[in-house]
Amino acid sequence: MKQRTTDDLEELRRLLEAAHRIVFFTGAGISTESGIPDFRSHGTGLWTKMQPTQFQDFVASEAIRQESWRRRFTGERSIENAKPNKGHEAIAKLIRDGKAIAVITQNVDNLHQDSGIDPSQVIELHGNASYAKCLDCQTRYEMIDLKRQFTDTGRVAPCGECGGVIKNATISFGQAMPEREMRRAQEQTLRCDLFVVVGSSLVVYPAAGFPELAKQLGAKLVIVNREPTPLDSIADLVVHREIGQTLSFAVGIN
Ligand code: ZN
Repeated sequence: MKQRTTDDLEELRRLLEAAHRIVFFTGAGISTESGIPDFRSHGTGLWTKMQPTQFQDFVASEAIRQESWRRRFTGERSIENAKPNKGHEAIAKLIRDGKAIAVITQNVDNLHQDSGIDPSQVIELHGNASYAKCLDCQTRYEMIDLKRQFTDTGRVAPCGECGGVIKNATISFGQAMPEREMRRAQEQTLRCDLFVVVGSSLVVYPAAGFPELAKQLGAKLVIVNREPTPLDSIADLVVHREIGQTLSFAVGIN
C-alpha cells in the first residue's frame, strides 16, 4: 500500500463522510480475511474439494443428507471459529454511528451479527449457516445440539415437531431466493444515498441487481473488491485493495 497513491482511499473517506444513508452489500471477499474460504475462488476454496449439495438431492435422499451433516461436523470448516475482521468492524461502526442503515450480505457466516450489528439490520440473501431449520414447520435448531446428536448417534434425526427435513438455514444451490429478504434488500436500496459493495464479484444475479438499482436511482456507488467486477464502469469509485485495511482507514479506526 505504501508505494501507491492513496487518492482512492481519501475519496472513499470523503464519500462515506458526505453520505447520510449508506447501504453495504458484502460478499465472500470480506470474510476471506477472517479465514473463510471463498467457494468460487479457484484452488483455495472448498469448491475443489467438495461439490456443494443440491437442494433437491438433500431433500430427496437421506444418504445425501447424512453425508452433508458428516462434512459439516467432521470437516475442518473454518466457519465455526471465524471472527469478524477490521472490515466487519468498520461497517459496524458506521451502523452504530447511524451513518449506515443496513448490510445486505451474500455471506452465511454470521460475522456481521458477530461484529455487533443488530440482526434486524443484516439482510441475508443466502441465509445463515450458523443454525438450522425444519424445512416444513420452520422450527429452529442450534448447530451445537445437532452436532451432539450426530456425534452420539451418527445421524441428524428428522424434526421432532413434525418429522420434516432439518437443513442448515442457508439458501442452497437449486433453492429459491428468499422473498422477504429480497424485498427488504430492495427497500433499503431504494432508501440509500450511497451504496457500497464490499468483496463481491457481482456476478450472481439477482443479488448483483441491487447496486445497479441504487445507481439508477441516483445514489453514489462504490465498489471495494480485490478483483475487477462487471459494474466497475458505472461506479463512482472503485477500490482494488485489501478490504479490512481499506475500510478501517476510510472509517478512521486504524
Ligand atoms: Zn418440523
